[in-house]
Amino acid sequence: MELNKCSRCGAFYTTSNNVCPNCVPKDNCDQLTLKNFLAENEMPASMEALSADTGISVKNLNRYLADSDINICL
Ligand SMILES: [Zn+2]
Repeated sequence: MELNKCSRCGAFYTTSNNVCPNCVPKDNCDQLTLKNFLAENEMPASMEALSADTGISVKNLNRYLADSDINICL
């Protein structure tokens, strides 16, 4: 059994998600926020600006943009 460390809260978990079961709803919510934001707004010039506009941490943004199915046209 492999232990994973949650990217959001640091808890250890054994499911195959990117985050622990407690954080899955928060992750989904943040990804939806990001998708909706990008559907209605221009991509900000920097991750910091995107973070400030969406309220999602830069760390989480990088994770979503790297391994999610969110398509972003820069
Ligand atoms: Zn977590």
